[in-house]
Amino acid sequence: MSTLEIKDLHVSVETKEGPKPILRGVDLTINSGETHAIMGPNGSGKSTLAYSIAGHPKYDITSGEVYLDGENVLEMSVDERARAGLFLAMQYPVEVPGVSVANFLRTAKTAIDGQAPALRHWVKEVNGAMDNLRMDKSFAERSVNEGFSGGEKKRHEILQLELLKPKIAILDETDSGLDVDALRVVSEGVNRAKETTGAGFLLITHYTRILRYIKPDFVHVFVNGRVAEEGGPELAERLEAEGYDRFLSAATA
Ligand code: ADP
Ligand code: MG
Ligand code: MG
Repeated sequence: MSTLEIKDLHVSVETKEGPKPILRGVDLTINSGETHAIMGPNGSGKSTLAYSIAGHPKYDITSGEVYLDGENVLEMSVDERARAGLFLAMQYPVEVPGVSVANFLRTAKTAIDGQAPALRHWVKEVNGAMDNLRMDKSFAERSVNEGFSGGEKKRHEILQLELLKPKIAILDETDSGLDVDALRVVSEGVNRAKETTGAGFLLITHYTRILRYIKPDFVHVFVNGRVAEEGGPELAERLEAEGYDRFLSAATA
C-alpha cells in the first residue's frame, strides 16, 4: 500500500517577466488502487502540477510538500523519484536519438530495480506488453520518440507503465490526439496496469472522453491553480453536460 500526499502546494513558473505563480495551494492524496481524475480548463495549471511532481527545473516550489510513503519527494532527484515508484511520463526526454525503445526500457527497468532484469523473462514480458497494446515488434528497434505519431507516443507511455510497474502513476493528457481505437487500446492498457500492479493513478485530462473507458474513483475539478470541487464519477458526467463555465465564473467573481 502506497500513498502520494500533496500538501498545500504552491508553484511558480519561470517566465521572461520573472516568476509567475501558477499553483495556489493544491491538496491531494492518492492511495494504491485508487484512480483520481483531475479535470480542468486549459491553462488551469494541470500540467504544472504534473511537472512539479516530476521535478522539472522550470517549476519553482514556493511552498508546500509532496510525500511518497512518508518520503519527501521534493528533495529527490528525478531519478530517485522514479526509483521510489513514481511514474511520470513527462520526466523522459522528448526524443532520444540513437537509443532504441528496447534499450531504453531495459535501462529504465534496471535503474528502477537496481539490477538488470533476467533476459529471457524480460523479453517475454516486453513482447507480451507490446502484443497487448497491439504494437508491431519492429517498434522496439526504433529510436525513442523519434518520428513517433501521437498515438505511438501514448502507446510507448503505457508500455513503460506496464513494464516499470510504478506505485503511483501520473498521466497528463494521455487521451489527447488519440482516435477512438487508439483511445480504447491505451485505456485498456491503463486498466490492465491498474489490475496487475495495483498502482494509484492520477489521470489529468481536459475532456471527459477517456473517463468512459477508465472509471475514476474520485474527480477533482482544477481551476486557477487549485482544486475547486471534488466528487465521484458523477462529477465528470456533470462536467460533460455543463462544461467548466460555472467554475470559471466562480473563480473570477
Ligand atoms: P494546463 O495543463 O491546465 O492547460 P498549464 O499548467 O500548462 O495548464 O499552464 C498553466 C499556466 O501557466 C498557463 O497560464 C501557462 O501559460 C502558464 N505556464 C505554464 N508553463 C509555463 C512556462 N514554462 N512558461 C510560461 N508560462 C507557463
Ligand atoms: Mg494546456
Ligand atoms: Mg496541460
